[in-house]
Amino acid sequence: MFSLRTTLRRRGSIAALVAALGAAAAAAGGGPSSITPQELREWLGYIASDELQGRAVFSEGLGLAGGYIVEHLRDWGVKPGGDPGQYLQTVRVLGVKTTSHSSVTVRVGKETRTFADGEGITFPKNMGGKRTVTIDRVEFVGYGLDAPGASHTDYGGKDVAGAAVVWLGAAGPKDLDQAAYRRLLAGRNRYATEQRGAAASIGPPAAPGAGRGGAGRGGATGAADGVDFTTVQRLDAAAPPNLTAADAFFEFVFSRAPSTYDELKRKAAAQEPLPSFRLADVAITFTIDPAYDVVRTQTTHNVVGIVEGSDPQLKNTFVAFGAHYDHVGYAERELSREAGARRPGAPGRVTPGAEEDRIWNGADDDGSGTVAVMAIARAFAAGAKPKRSLLFVWHAGEERGLWGSRYFADYPTVPMDRIVAQLNIDMIGRNRDDKASEANTVYLVGSDRISSELHAVNRAANAAMTRPLTLDYEFNDPADLEQLYFRSDHYSYAAKGVPIIFFTTGLHPDYHANTDEVSKIEFDKMARITQMIFETGVRVANLDHAPARDNKGPRAGRLTQ
Ligand SMILES: [Zn+2]
Repeated sequence: MFSLRTTLRRRGSIAALVAALGAAAAAAGGGPSSITPQELREWLGYIASDELQGRAVFSEGLGLAGGYIVEHLRDWGVKPGGDPGQYLQTVRVLGVKTTSHSSVTVRVGKETRTFADGEGITFPKNMGGKRTVTIDRVEFVGYGLDAPGASHTDYGGKDVAGAAVVWLGAAGPKDLDQAAYRRLLAGRNRYATEQRGAAASIGPPAAPGAGRGGAGRGGATGAADGVDFTTVQRLDAAAPPNLTAADAFFEFVFSRAPSTYDELKRKAAAQEPLPSFRLADVAITFTIDPAYDVVRTQTTHNVVGIVEGSDPQLKNTFVAFGAHYDHVGYAERELSREAGARRPGAPGRVTPGAEEDRIWNGADDDGSGTVAVMAIARAFAAGAKPKRSLLFVWHAGEERGLWGSRYFADYPTVPMDRIVAQLNIDMIGRNRDDKASEANTVYLVGSDRISSELHAVNRAANAAMTRPLTLDYEFNDPADLEQLYFRSDHYSYAAKGVPIIFFTTGLHPDYHANTDEVSKIEFDKMARITQMIFETGVRVANLDHAPARDNKGPRAGRLTQ
């Protein structure tokens, strides 16, 4: 005899079957209409399930997620694009110890002094490959900070391209909210070399209590486990010197300057306004001479698939789509009831009231991007082929410092100069801060920075949709407090000169919390964003030329559109 519950369950399963058949029919034809909320929900239901244990890199859960993606790619006829003949690309994560013989030689007028690494000047442990570079244009840029939102601009229109930049004042200027601006303050060396084009940047050590960040390459440091740093990148690549210096160095550099170092140091300590000026007749020679000892190698995998284009020539070039399929994992330690309920050793935030939940499901971050890229891959595999080929990469270890994408960018499975654009999807399943007013909004970061043409193609693709999304460029501002441009996988491609767009619906209270769950995902919105990204990709893949790389930098955001 049927119980009422059984009947309901059966009815439910028939409805599910009908929905699945409908989705299968749509999928058969490929194209944007094959991207449906139902399927995104089904796939995410697995990717963000407790069974996958939060998908931490090197975990069983991440392996299951990778296997699930591979299985689908094989079903859909997407070709393997990883290690030869494989969907997986092995990513080697190196633990490295550094012995440094590096130094800096400063010439002021006719006087010269050399500072060894650790004596007046400190190189990051990951300082790039051996080389010597002399820079004879040295610019003092005050606090080295552009924070127009706080009415503080040190660079303004000043061109520091190719110069060595020197800045002071670890704590930043007075009246600057240090907590809100911590990423900008900590990222000043990176800002100088990566955004302003400086050839080197030298500042004081971080203020006590400030977070790390900005200095060095390759993200994560690993001092706690007996290595100097952890990296997936080539150790021999040239990196602009990003150094910290002590009083002895600054005293000499400023010895003939319009202001003495004592005076500048006093002002910086008092957080008073600092001047900026060129350090005339000063040259700095950086002798970068490290010996790297790889003391540990761990492996994980990117998942890579390819759908071939239709044009005999253009199919040798690629439009890349990416997301990260890892998240932060689960809490191994037991709940502590002393001093309130706590999860010691939790991999992320614990939402009050959800202390019992020990799995960080990462439904939005980045389960949403993971299944969106699956849907795009299937839409291309089953549908009409554009001229260019499509490359799909599910990156591992993004949460640990963009590992998968940094590795791919240094060891690409197709030549990097044949990737004409990279469209990165990280967190597209929510409304920013859970606001209903955000229901139609998607944030784009970086779309205009490398290629104005890519930016225009995306806007046209969105405008042509039945229901265009609201495109918001707020986070594209170089002074964005969250510095999102540096915080997902597209950045690894951008650093190699590839035009990128980073798509996200923004941060929310469940970001990196144990309550980032499937039940909170806006699947209709997510499907529309995924379709818009697909349409952008089709247009780029059918261009007869690669999107022009005019490198005009970030403009959308401040000027809007
Ligand atoms: Zn994340």
